Amino acid sequence: MSQPKNEKSPRRGSKSRPQRQPQGNSSGQPGATKFDGIKITPLGGLREIGMNVTCYETSKHMIIVDCGLMFPEETQLGVDVVIPDFTYIVANASKVQGLFITHGHEDHIGAIPFLVRQVPKLKIFATRLVAGMIRHRLKERNLENAVTIIEVAAKDRVNVNDFSVEFIAVNHSIADACALAIDTPHGVIIHTGDFKIDYTPVDGRVIDLPSFARYGENGVLALLSDSTNTESVGMSATEGVVRQALDEEIEGCKGKVIVSAFSSNIHRIQTLMDIAKKFGRKIAFDGRSILNNTRIARETGYMHFEDEDIIPIKDTKGIAPQKLMIITTGSQGESLAALPRMANDGHAHVKIKPGDTIIFSSKTIPGNERSVSKLVNQLFLKGARVVYNNRRVHASGHAYQEEQKTMINLVRPKYFIPIHGEYRHLYLHSELAKSMNIPDQNIFILKNGQPLLLNEKEGKVLPEEVNGRVFIDGSSMEGVEEPVLMDRRSLGSQGIAVVHMAISQKDGELVSGPNLVTSGFELSAQTRKEIEDEIKEIFSSTYEEGKTQRLLRIDARRIIRKSMKKKADREPLVLPVITEI
Ligand SMILES: [Zn+2]
Repeated sequence: MSQPKNEKSPRRGSKSRPQRQPQGNSSGQPGATKFDGIKITPLGGLREIGMNVTCYETSKHMIIVDCGLMFPEETQLGVDVVIPDFTYIVANASKVQGLFITHGHEDHIGAIPFLVRQVPKLKIFATRLVAGMIRHRLKERNLENAVTIIEVAAKDRVNVNDFSVEFIAVNHSIADACALAIDTPHGVIIHTGDFKIDYTPVDGRVIDLPSFARYGENGVLALLSDSTNTESVGMSATEGVVRQALDEEIEGCKGKVIVSAFSSNIHRIQTLMDIAKKFGRKIAFDGRSILNNTRIARETGYMHFEDEDIIPIKDTKGIAPQKLMIITTGSQGESLAALPRMANDGHAHVKIKPGDTIIFSSKTIPGNERSVSKLVNQLFLKGARVVYNNRRVHASGHAYQEEQKTMINLVRPKYFIPIHGEYRHLYLHSELAKSMNIPDQNIFILKNGQPLLLNEKEGKVLPEEVNGRVFIDGSSMEGVEEPVLMDRRSLGSQGIAVVHMAISQKDGELVSGPNLVTSGFELSAQTRKEIEDEIKEIFSSTYEEGKTQRLLRIDARRIIRKSMKKKADREPLVLPVITEI
C-alpha cells in the first residue's frame, strides 16, 4: 500500500474533515487491502444534487461510474465549478479498469477533464452522444488525446477483469441515457443513473424494462436508484404530452415565439424545431451551450434538421415575427443569460414586443424562484404573453414515486441504496423501498466518501475514506483553497482595509504609520484614529526580532482584523503593507 503523492492531491475545500489516509495500491504491488465482497464508495452526489461519482471495487480492480461537477452556491464567490476530491481514486489508480458514463449531463460528465489529469490513460465507456459531449469538453482543455473513449450502445456488454458491465436503455431529459448492470464476483449491481419511464419518448427509445426484469429474475445483489423526484407522487409526464401542449401553445401565435429550454435537452429542442417547421417558423438558437449541444447531437445522429431551417440570431431582425422561433437559455433568470437580457433590452439582436409569446419549457430550479418571477414580470411588462409554471409544457427527466417503485419491483434487489439526491430525497426513497418489503437492515443511506462492503451474506458500512470538494476557479484547472473564498466573501460584503506601515530594519521600531485606508465602507475620523493607535500599540509590543516579512504580515493582519471588529464592528478583507527601511 502506498499513499498518494502530495503534488497530485488536489487541495480540499471546506467540507473536508480530518480523515484517515486513503487505502490504495497505486504502486500496483501485492499487498493491497483484501476484502470479501464488493466495495461501493460514492465520492459525490449523495446528500447533495450534483457531482455524481461512484467507485465499485473488488480487492483487485475498480471501476468508476460517472464523473460529474456541481455549480457553486451563491456564497462561493469567484468559484466556477465544484468537483469531488479524487484522492481516493488517485490512490487506487492502478486498480482502475475504466470510467463508465450513464449520460451526458454536467453532473455526470463535467469533472472528467479534472479526473483525466490525475488518472492517466483512463478508458471511458459511453454511448455515442455522450462520447461526443465528453470529447467536446476534453477538447476545450486540450486533453482529447489523454484518454481512450470507447463508444458503446444500449445492450452492449463491456468486460474488464472482475467486472462485466451491460448498458441498459433508460429515459431521461437527455438522449442516449443508460443504466448499468454491473456483474461482479459477488452478484449483479444495478446502477440506474438518472432515469424515468416514458412510453412515448421523442425518439421512440422506451426504457428497456424487460432487461431490468431479466436481471431481477436471476437475482440482483444491490440496486442504486435515482432519488431526485421521490417527493413527487404518481408518474412523470411523457415527452409525447409535452409535444402536444407545446404544439397547442404555439399554434396561432401572431408574434415571434421565444422558448427557453435546458440546453442539453435535445429531444425537447428537436420537438420545438419540428413544431416550428410545421408552423412555417425559422429557428434561431441563442446561447453557446445550445449551439454546442445541437451541433454535437446533429453530428452524432441524435438530431435531425436542415441547414435552411436555421438562421443565426444576428439575422433575426429581418424576419417577420410570425415566421420566427427563438430557442434560448436563461429560464432561471441568470442575469447574463439570453432571455433576461432580452427582457431588459440588453440583447443586441432581439427585442421583446407586444404580441410575442414566451414559453418556459423548463422548471424553476429550487433557489431561483425570485429571479425567475422577476424575469416573468419584466416579460409581461413588455406586453408579451408568458407561458410559465405550466406543467404541460415541461416534463421532468426523473422518475416519480410510481416509477421508482416499478424499478424496485422489477429488479427485486437484496440491498437497496438510494442515490442522486439531498438527504430528504434519499430518506424518502428508502421509505419507499421499505414499503416494498426490502428489509430495513438491507437499506443503506450512505454519505460521500463512506464505503459500503456488500457480499452475499451481509452489507457493512466501512470507515470514511478521504473525500471532500475541490473548488475550481476561472478557466484554470486548479482548485482554490477555502481561505481564498473567505477573502472574496469578505471583500464582497465587508469591503477592504489596507494598512501601510514602515518599520526599522534595525530594531523593528515603527517608523511611520500605521495608515489605514478603506474602501467599500466609511469610518469616522475618530474611529480610524482609534484603530490606528491600537494597531500601533499591539504591533510594537508583540514585535520580535528576526521575524520574516511573512510572519510580520500575518501578525499585522490578525491585529488589524481584531481591532476593526472591536472598534468598527466590521470584518473587511485586511491587507497589511509593511515596508522595512
Ligand atoms: Zn441527468
